[in-house]
Amino acid sequence: MKIDTSNTSPNFNERTLPITQLVLHYTGMESGQAALERLCDADAKVSAHYLVHEDGRIAQLVEEKKRAWHAGVGSWRGITDINSSSIGIEIVNGGHNFPNAGGLPPYPDAQINAVIALSKAILQRYDIQPWNVIGHSDLAPERKEDPGEHFPWSSLAAAGLGLWAEFELEPDERVLFELGDRDRGVSIIQQGLGQIGYDIAVTGQFEVKTKAVMIAFQRHWRPNNISGLIDIDCLQRVGALVRLLP
Ligand SMILES: [Zn+2]
Repeated sequence: MKIDTSNTSPNFNERTLPITQLVLHYTGMESGQAALERLCDADAKVSAHYLVHEDGRIAQLVEEKKRAWHAGVGSWRGITDINSSSIGIEIVNGGHNFPNAGGLPPYPDAQINAVIALSKAILQRYDIQPWNVIGHSDLAPERKEDPGEHFPWSSLAAAGLGLWAEFELEPDERVLFELGDRDRGVSIIQQGLGQIGYDIAVTGQFEVKTKAVMIAFQRHWRPNNISGLIDIDCLQRVGALVRLLP
């Protein structure tokens, strides 16, 4: 794996936590070059350890031992300073900001293969568990949409990366709960989402925060239907993932 270190970002400082998480992003910009320039611009105050271009080229912008500024405000598994605990990979993709005529712009195979190779190498260097391989939207569901429902988490899973369970081809998507509902069933799914890692309180009330977390969950684990509703399929998927946890 060839890694280009010719561009570096000044946007980093010292970690205060050990590395236990891997966070994947899309750049959400019109081009890889524009993203590279922004990530290396001192005024932008953002960065990532790596940038993966559409053709699979990998650039390292910040040393892994340093705290890159990619995650911002958020929480996963009780950790709120995610920049201190994670490696951040920015993947060049216009995402929701620059859709194609046909929808969200696909991630090319060459790019995903590079993300997989890079992620595998990172996971070998640190004690990063499968449930700590996440997207930006997982740690900040109310602020972020990346890497998006078009990101192929299943391809990463097929390569042995991340928390994943296989599900039925024709899922039962009958809706159980929607915004405003209050029910013990809402508590059950909130509890499961919290066990997976989301920052969510067990209130039994399907409020705006719970809906944002449901959307983040669906983007990652049920990408063909981002309804924000709690349906039978989502309940089953949350249950199946929780059973994979220690
Ligand atoms: Zn991001």
